[in-house]
Amino acid sequence: MAQDPQRLSRSGSPVSVSFEFFPPKTPEMEAQLWEAIGRLAPLAPEFVSVTYGAGGSTRERTHATVARLVKETSLKPAAHLTCVGASSAEIDAVVKGYAAAGVRHIVALRGDPPGGLDTPYVAPRDGHQSTEALVAAIKRAGDFEVSVSAYPEKHPQSPTLLHDIEALKRKVDAGADRAITQFFFDNSAYLRFLDVAAAAGITIPIVPGIVPVLNFKQTANFARKTGASVPNWLAERFEGLEDDPATRRLVAAAVCAEQVIDLIDRGVDHLHFYTMNRADLVFAICHLIGLRAKPAAGAEAPAQPRSA
Ligand code: FAD
Repeated sequence: MAQDPQRLSRSGSPVSVSFEFFPPKTPEMEAQLWEAIGRLAPLAPEFVSVTYGAGGSTRERTHATVARLVKETSLKPAAHLTCVGASSAEIDAVVKGYAAAGVRHIVALRGDPPGGLDTPYVAPRDGHQSTEALVAAIKRAGDFEVSVSAYPEKHPQSPTLLHDIEALKRKVDAGADRAITQFFFDNSAYLRFLDVAAAAGITIPIVPGIVPVLNFKQTANFARKTGASVPNWLAERFEGLEDDPATRRLVAAAVCAEQVIDLIDRGVDHLHFYTMNRADLVFAICHLIGLRAKPAAGAEAPAQPRSA
C-alpha cells in the first residue's frame, strides 16, 4: 500500500500552512509576487497575508494586492494593518475598504516607530493608543478574523518577556483570534513561550513564523533588529558560503526542514512562512512535510491566479 505522504500533526490532523507576502513596489516585483503566489496557491494554504507599511502608497499597494487576491484567486487573504501615522477615522476607512474588497481577516499591529526601533513609539494623538484598541475597533467594524503578533524572544522594545505576554493577553481579551510569531531559529524559545502564554491563560493558537534563510547576512541583520537570536550553530552552517549561492540554498532548505519537522514532532499543526515573495524554498519545505498541490476549485474560483 502506498504510504500517505502527508505529515500529520500530533493530533492526527494534517499540518496547515499560511504564507506571508509583501506588496510589490515595481512591475518586476509584482511579476515575482504573482509568480510566487501561482506556485504556492495550489498547496491550499489556510490564508495568505500581505504586509502593510506607513504612508499612503504602501497602504494602497497592500489594498491592491489583497483586492486582487480576492478577485483572481480562491485564496483567503489577510490584510495587515498598523496604527502608525493614522487617525482612528483613517484606520476605520482602511478597514471599511478591506471589507468592501471582500477581505475578512486582518493582522492587527502597532507598527514600528517612524524613527526606527531605537526610538520610542508615540501613538498618533487622534489614533489608536494601543494595539488592543485597534483589535477592538476591527472587531466592532465587522465580522473579521483578527490575528496579532507575538514575540517568543521578546519584542526589542519590551522590558521583559512577561511584559510581552501581558501585551498579548490584552490583545486576546480585545478579541484576537490567533497570534503569529516573529521568526525564530531556537525552537525551545518558542515552546517555552507557549508554556508561559498558556500559564497566563492565553488559549488562542500561537502560530510559529518561519523564515527560510535565503541570505544569511541579511537574515542575521534583520534578526538583530527584531530581537530574534541567531544561534552560533546557524552561523556556522552558512560559514564560507558567501560566494556559493547554490550550496547556500541547499543548506537553507536543510536548516528550515529540520526546524519545521522538529516543530511538527513537538505538536505544532500550523506553520506561517515569511516567503519574501519567493516560492521555491517554501514550496520545497511544504512538499517535504507532505503538502501536495490540490486541483483548482473550479473555473469560478481558481486556486491559481488567472494572470501574472
Ligand atoms: P505590540 O504587540 O503592541 O507590542 C509588542 C511588544 O512591544 C509588546 O508586547 C510590549 O511588550 C512592547 N511594547 C509595545 N508598545 C510599548 C510601549 N509603548 N512601551 C513599552 N513597551 C511596548 N510591521 C509593519 O509595519 N507592517 C506589517 O505588516 C507587519 N507585520 C508583522 C507581522 C507579524 C506576524 C509580526 C510578528 C510583526 C509584524 N510587523 C509589521 C512588525 C511590528 O509592527 C513591530 O514589531 C512593531 O514594533 C510592534 O508592533 P506589534 O503589533 O507587534 O506591537
